[in-house]
Amino acid sequence: MGAPSAEFELRGASAPSVEINRLRRAMSHDPVLEVRTAGLWPASEPRCRATAGHRPAILLSATLHTAIHIPFPPRTGYARPMTQLIFPLAPPTVPIDGETRAFPVRRIYCVGRNYAAHAREMGADPAAEPPFFFMKPADAVVLGNRVPYPPDTDNLHHEVELVIAIGRGGWDVAYEQALDLVYGYAVGVDLTKRDRQNDAKAKGQPWERAKSFEASAPISPIFPAERIGHPKSGAIALAVNGETRQSGDLADLILPVPAIIARISEVWTLAPGDLIFTGTPEGVSRITRGDHITAQVEGVARIDFEMS
Ligand code: MN
Repeated sequence: MGAPSAEFELRGASAPSVEINRLRRAMSHDPVLEVRTAGLWPASEPRCRATAGHRPAILLSATLHTAIHIPFPPRTGYARPMTQLIFPLAPPTVPIDGETRAFPVRRIYCVGRNYAAHAREMGADPAAEPPFFFMKPADAVVLGNRVPYPPDTDNLHHEVELVIAIGRGGWDVAYEQALDLVYGYAVGVDLTKRDRQNDAKAKGQPWERAKSFEASAPISPIFPAERIGHPKSGAIALAVNGETRQSGDLADLILPVPAIIARISEVWTLAPGDLIFTGTPEGVSRITRGDHITAQVEGVARIDFEMS
C-alpha cells in the first residue's frame, strides 16, 4: 500500500524509539503499531510493525512514547495506553523471597474441585465434573500474621492451596510450554464463606459473595521457580490451633500445574502478575476468630496467621 513502515522487536523501553521517530517524521500523523507475537510474551520479544492507515488484527493506535510502556498485547486486540490518573492506584503486591522488589498482582484465578477427595466432600462427583475456574479480585491478597475475620458469615472455611505466580503472559499456551510462564510458587489459603457458597449453589447464583471478599486470599511470599523448581508432588497441609485438618499431596492434583495454565489460557489471556490458586485437598473445616492457622506445601513455602 506504499505507506511508510518498519519492523523491529520490542526489546526494552527505548529500542524502537529511533525507528518510530523516523516514521513519525515521514508521516503526517502518528504511526499505528501492529504487534505480533508468537503467543508468549515478553519472553518471545513481540515483533512490531509500524505503518500508516491500516488496521491489523492486533494494533496499538498510540504514539511510541505510550506504546513502548505497554508490556504485552492482549488477545482482545486492544492494549490500554499508559495515561494519567485522577487519583493514584497501585496494584496489590506479594513479597518475593530473597528479592527486595515485590510481585504486583493483576488477577487471581482459582481452580475449583481439583482434588478428587475434596470434590467428593463437597458432594460432587470428580469423574463427572472436571475442575473449573473462578476468580478473586487482586486486592483479596492479605499478608502477615493477622487476617481479619470477614463479615457476612458464620461458617468461614480454610482451603490450603499451592499458588502459581505467573511471570510471563500468553494465550492458548501448550501444555509443554506452560511452565515457561511460571515465575514462582507460594502457599495460599482460599478463605471461603461456606454458608454463602451453599446459598449461592442452591439459588444458582455466582460465588463472589462467598469467595471474592477482601482479605480472602492469605498468601506466603513467592519463591522463584529458578530456585525451588516446579513442584509435582509433596505434602500440602493445614493445621488449626496445632491440629491437622487438611493433609494431601500435590501428586493428587486432577489438573497439574501445566494443565491448569494451558486450560486457563484457552479462555483468558494470562499475564505477568497473575496468581493461580490451584485447588484444595480434603479436610476443609470451619474456623473462627482467634484461631491460629498454619499451612504449608512441602518444598515450597509455609504460612502462619491468626484470624482476628
Ligand atoms: Mn479453593
